[in-house]
Amino acid sequence: MLTVKGLVLMQRTLGEQDRFIDVLTAEYGVLEVLVKGAGKLNSKSGSATQLFTYSELCLNDKRNGVRILNSITPLSVFYGLRSSVSAIALASYFSQVIRYAVLPRSGAPEILQLALNCLYMLSEQKATEAKIKAIFELRIASLLGFMPDVIMCRSCGEYLPERLVFSVPDGYFCCEDCITLPEDETGFISMTAGTLQAIRFIVLSEPKKIFNFAVSERSRKPLYQFAEEFLCYQMERKFPALEYYYSIQRTMQPDVPK
Ligand SMILES: [Zn+2]
Repeated sequence: MLTVKGLVLMQRTLGEQDRFIDVLTAEYGVLEVLVKGAGKLNSKSGSATQLFTYSELCLNDKRNGVRILNSITPLSVFYGLRSSVSAIALASYFSQVIRYAVLPRSGAPEILQLALNCLYMLSEQKATEAKIKAIFELRIASLLGFMPDVIMCRSCGEYLPERLVFSVPDGYFCCEDCITLPEDETGFISMTAGTLQAIRFIVLSEPKKIFNFAVSERSRKPLYQFAEEFLCYQMERKFPALEYYYSIQRTMQPDVPK
């Protein structure tokens, strides 16, 4: 028997009564668990196997390579997510990134903490979705070993240039005077010192403080653009859940680009 705390990232139904859930744990990365008779669980156990619920699970020893759920107790349910299609879509994107990036059997305590913090902020609407999304993207990229070089201009060593250009593929920046942009500017993002400071804050601060910064309206757009492009570039793929999130955004606000 194994007792472990974990966040339900995905569920797949299997026949009429059974379902598989993918659970992110600090100790074992993402675990696949078979929930037998999921339709018959009492409501407390049933809600504990729902998407984006953080629960304590007791698992039977592996049989034929599969872990079967013995019992489960919900710890945090993030009820606020349930009331927003857009928040659920964003949470699904987070879970898709985690399932793609976290290797089985590798501990992921910091990624679990990041996911729980982001879901809490989303559920309680403590920050805008765009800000939570950017923080998740930059922070998880850094935790996965792809931290952008935020120290200084790669060419002249300036710490805080007023205007600068970040290269998404290279993961470093140069001040505007030090770089000549190619005609095709794809992968290069112009930003101000304010945006750079926000990026620095997200990748360098203590886990509990990552949300504690303000960014001016004009510095926001390049931050959000850089965070998304940088993560997707490093992961070398597009995430369908991200496309879905944008389709929801467009339904809610028809003028959202893309
Ligand atoms: Zn420079």
